Amino acid sequence: MKNGHISFWMDRDLDGLQTKRPRLEADLETDVCIVGAGFTGLWTAYLLQRHDPALRIHILESDFVGHGASGRNDGWVSALLSANRRKLAAASGRDTVIEFQRTMIEAVDEIIDILSEENIDAHQVKGGHLRVARTPAALARQEASQRSALDWGYRPEHITMLSRQEADERIRVDGTVGGMFNTTTARIDPSLLVTGLARLVERRGAVIHENTRVAAVAAHTARTAQGQRVRAPYVLVCTEAYSGQIDGMPKRRIAPVNSSIVITEPLTDSQWSTIGWNDDECFGDSAHVFTYAQRTADGRIAIGGRGKPYRYGSRTDHAGEVDDKTVQLLHSRLTEYFPDAGEIPLAHAWCGVIGVTRDWCAFVDLDQQTGIGTAGGYAGHGVTTAFVAANTLADRICGVDSRYSRLPWFGHRPPLWEPEPARWIGITSMYGLFGVADTQEERANAERTAPIARFAAKITGMD
Ligand SMILES: Cc1cc2nc3c(=O)[nH]c(=O)nc-3n(C[C@H](O)[C@H](O)[C@H](O)COP(=O)(O)OP(=O)(O)OC[C@H]3O[C@@H](n4cnc5c(N)ncnc54)[C@H](O)[C@@H]3O)c2cc1C
Repeated sequence: MKNGHISFWMDRDLDGLQTKRPRLEADLETDVCIVGAGFTGLWTAYLLQRHDPALRIHILESDFVGHGASGRNDGWVSALLSANRRKLAAASGRDTVIEFQRTMIEAVDEIIDILSEENIDAHQVKGGHLRVARTPAALARQEASQRSALDWGYRPEHITMLSRQEADERIRVDGTVGGMFNTTTARIDPSLLVTGLARLVERRGAVIHENTRVAAVAAHTARTAQGQRVRAPYVLVCTEAYSGQIDGMPKRRIAPVNSSIVITEPLTDSQWSTIGWNDDECFGDSAHVFTYAQRTADGRIAIGGRGKPYRYGSRTDHAGEVDDKTVQLLHSRLTEYFPDAGEIPLAHAWCGVIGVTRDWCAFVDLDQQTGIGTAGGYAGHGVTTAFVAANTLADRICGVDSRYSRLPWFGHRPPLWEPEPARWIGITSMYGLFGVADTQEERANAERTAPIARFAAKITGMD
């Protein structure tokens, strides 16, 4: 089994993960300087090009296209809102939050439409997502979540509760007591999407410099670690969970929280007939420390979960190596879910970071005085959210009044995370307590959510 190498997807497509594009070697003047070649940076470049094909756009990437979370994720293109609806409604009103949710739902279709218009085959397919409940407490949470979703912008056809038998007819997960099916989610192959977008913006005239780390940003300027200066009316920092590493950006606005994935070898036909899973839906559970998975186009399962949640001092991994304990944990989840499928060998394990704000609300910011823009805090739901954030940034830059430019996350300033060691203690204990809550609920086959889980959500600002 391979471990690290960024991800199975990137390792497969990048042949040794070399940088292919030249680094920036000299100072530069341009119209828009984008820092980071992930989904946020690349979608922003694309949308700006659609507004104004003549714009000169330069993208500076520390490593290579897709080196961050965009090349490492599990490919759920979901409408899940990276925001606490209640908090957002208190600040911006209930209708605004409902409109935000509907924008997310429609954005999934917009992404799929753009991919077909632009001939990008990222194995996109809209099969929805199934979440199974394996305890009555998890089922009760799903029922509450369905009611709340319907109150906040989803329509009845989007989310249905499933009996155990109905859930089993989709995917036969051992111990299922029921489930919830959400029709709004699609699936993609992350590397095909991020590299496809990079080629698309290059065809339209953007220049991507790989191996070009930005050390600092200031008004209308980005300075690379090698000392080159890029001057531009707009400097857009699209580095999500890595943003605190750049001078000039707030250090404690986003905490990089770890997420890990293992992917199997292709399953045999007989294993698939034991499991079911014939409709390309994404799959997850409703534990507090939940797992998420996709069935890939070539018949593998890519299953992810938290593992070691956070590195002290907001440090980030480089090539995505995962510790043995997390690999074993994710592998054991597979055998626990699908005991009748026999041995399911692993092909690759990797990890990456998701950006989490102190109030669990994503944000988009653009200071017209300094020209510095940024977005982030997608909390692990960034595939669609990055596209929506890119629309907000592009419309704001081009002065377009749209549903995107009016979203309530524009200008939202999440409170800063605590300095260390409080930050490490807070995030690590939250996941520790969630783990304890899962064990308590499973052992007792509990009807209700363990109080300790509510406490954990409260102290870390999730609730
Ligand atoms: C394991 C895992 C699973 C996930 N699964 C899902 C999922 O199924 N669905 C979902 O919606 N979301 C998922 N996410 C989250 C999602 O992938 C991210 O939210 C999204 O990709 C963020 O995109 P981005 O472009 O903002 O950031 P990134 O993709 O992280 O891109 C930032 C880029 O900036 C570069 N960079 C960093 N520092 C600098 C610097 N100083 N100078 C220049 N460049 C720099 C990085 O190398 C990187 O390429 C997952 C994330 C992880 C880690």
